Amino acid sequence: MFYFENINKKKILRSDMIQNANAFFTTRESAINENEQLIINYLGVKKLIYPQQTHSGNIQIVEKNKFNYPNTDALILTIPEYAIFLNFADCTPIILYDTKQNIGAICHAGWRGSVKKIAPKTIQKMIEDFNTKPENVTALIGPAISSCCYNVGEEVFEKLKITVKNFNNLYKISDNNFFVDLKSINSQQIRELGVKNIDICPYCTSCDNNYFFSYRKENGTTNRHNAVLKLA
Ligand SMILES: [Zn+2]
Repeated sequence: MFYFENINKKKILRSDMIQNANAFFTTRESAINENEQLIINYLGVKKLIYPQQTHSGNIQIVEKNKFNYPNTDALILTIPEYAIFLNFADCTPIILYDTKQNIGAICHAGWRGSVKKIAPKTIQKMIEDFNTKPENVTALIGPAISSCCYNVGEEVFEKLKITVKNFNNLYKISDNNFFVDLKSINSQQIRELGVKNIDICPYCTSCDNNYFFSYRKENGTTNRHNAVLKLA
């Protein structure tokens, strides 16, 4: 279950499904762009590492003393001294945590990343490179534009449809508009890979625009909230 917590009276969003590691989502008032030092102090790290996101399907593993990750939309973290974050304003943030091995990842899944199956591919890489077992992975699917507000063209709809075996209940069609639920599509993608512990955030970035940024609702805003991970 998701709940808000305060850092210096600024809200962050957490889930009770990840307690050991520091995994959370910032809000409008705690966004890293304006609160970098606050988050650095809170996490007890020297620096925050983030990739240059391009709606790609590219996944990188964070390396010691490497701070630039161009053209990357998922970062895998295995170094407890480091913290990572990614930026969001409607796209689906996914935090993955292997509770047995204390390693994790953050994925950026808008419709493009979801079509590229970036979340299950990140888990696949954790399986191949670190022997992660899907049953030991906890996934937090954070605030994103939800099916109430997110309509796509038929072409995108058809591309999303084939990313899962069971697409029922992940969309609705009204007046020839295709409304899709990217949070649930990503959840279904990783469920089909064997992940069982998944917490899906109830917040829609457009409906709950007082808490989160929305690219659509705010006509292409450049502001971003974040998904943040520091290992235990
Ligand atoms: Zn909504």
